[in-house]
Amino acid sequence: MHSTVKPSFRYQLEKQKPRVGSGGTTRGASVHEFPASIGIAGVSMRLEPGSMRELHWHANAAEWGYVISGQCRTTLLNPEGPTETDIFGPGDIWYFPRGWGHSIQGIGPGECHFILIFDNGDFSEDHTFSITDWLAHTPKGVVEQNLRVGADVVAKMPKGEAYFASGPAPDDRSYDAAARGYPELVSQHRYPLLAQQPRRIPGCGVQYIASVKEFPISTSMAGSVLQIEPGAMRELHWHPNADEWQYFIEGNAEMAVFLAEGQVVIDQFEAGDVGYAPMGAGHYIRNTGDSVLRVLVGFNSGHYQSNDLSAWVASNPPSVLASNLGIPRETANDLPRSPLFMVSERDAGE
Ligand code: MN
Ligand code: MN
Repeated sequence: MHSTVKPSFRYQLEKQKPRVGSGGTTRGASVHEFPASIGIAGVSMRLEPGSMRELHWHANAAEWGYVISGQCRTTLLNPEGPTETDIFGPGDIWYFPRGWGHSIQGIGPGECHFILIFDNGDFSEDHTFSITDWLAHTPKGVVEQNLRVGADVVAKMPKGEAYFASGPAPDDRSYDAAARGYPELVSQHRYPLLAQQPRRIPGCGVQYIASVKEFPISTSMAGSVLQIEPGAMRELHWHPNADEWQYFIEGNAEMAVFLAEGQVVIDQFEAGDVGYAPMGAGHYIRNTGDSVLRVLVGFNSGHYQSNDLSAWVASNPPSVLASNLGIPRETANDLPRSPLFMVSERDAGE
């Protein structure tokens, strides 16, 4: 964009004006709004009970969803089988492969808030293939023939893209598809991320992770929730195989991106902000607040790979570190001898 301007890896997503529809709001960040985010786009969406993000598909991105609050119901058209209908609550994730038809409906009680991540920075939730847009611009006789209804029925349908549609909130959790005689399925597209046993780093925090290992359908994306204690940090590291897109759920943080050639860009984050660390760029996330920091992290690879500073140091002979870093050999012996992943505040200077 502006080559003379220092890039920013922070975007204040929740401070943007939302797109408002029938019982729903959406705020999106693609590379057009957030120039650093060339590989991943994201959306924050809220649905009132009964309101739905209508039946649609994306031709150019898979969709990875994480529910922050409330509950929703999704339907997913499997091109090799019947529709899957699932209920999602806080901490659950979904993965919809590129090109698969889906819908998301708030089921109450209260609003459902979820984050969507797409493995394409140019992706916009505003440019999707929607059922109403398609039918409204198809010759009426074709729609009548295909749905086997009369002109009076087609005349009642939306005249253009609905995007959000609303109706009564489902009054129970029964699966409509099952009621219509489809076999009940154990969906492969839902994974209860926060129900897993997380990786715990005593005194520092926890990591929940869903890569293709834990969530096999999610071949093109992985995701993680980090909880970091005050003063602690996710240590200096880089991802050799993926860009990283961050949504700050709760707390305050500093995140810095190392771009080589002497450039480190440091930004301060608060709840509702989005951050980005390009593939291969070094970064850390440090909790600068007084309470637990919670960050949702998405990657545009199904395989989670991380090169962490402590692991790098631990895997090199102290003599190499002493020469490279210009420190006494005995000091080099005291550098981390095993991977840390997160570092607590009280470790500093000990
Ligand atoms: Mn979608
Ligand atoms: Mn990272």
